[in-house]
Amino acid sequence: MATEPTPLHVKRGDTVKIGQGKDRNKTGRVLRVQPKKSTIIVEGINIVTKAIKPTQDNQRGGFEKFEAPIHASKALLVCPSCGKTTRLAFKTVADKKVRFCKKCDAVIEDNLK
Ligand SMILES: [Zn+2]
Repeated sequence: MATEPTPLHVKRGDTVKIGQGKDRNKTGRVLRVQPKKSTIIVEGINIVTKAIKPTQDNQRGGFEKFEAPIHASKALLVCPSCGKTTRLAFKTVADKKVRFCKKCDAVIEDNLK
């Protein structure tokens, strides 16, 4: 039987704070999650510059900036209610498993867009 990949603690649309690396203490919105690799792409975080080869349309080539994936474990979830980083906890409300903030007890809604 195939095992489901472990769901990540952050989801697309969440706000996270980076706990380590060159973007430490920066916050951003999660643009993409890749559960199989346990990586996420966060707006404005881990910007890398890629050289673009000259093409017919763009004969000089150039550089393109984009967000490279970071390991999900580097990102701490920011609670939308109290604005603090929180370890995620789960509880069951009306038969639905929801995420909630251990610091202020607010349910953290999925913010998929
Ligand atoms: Zn909170």
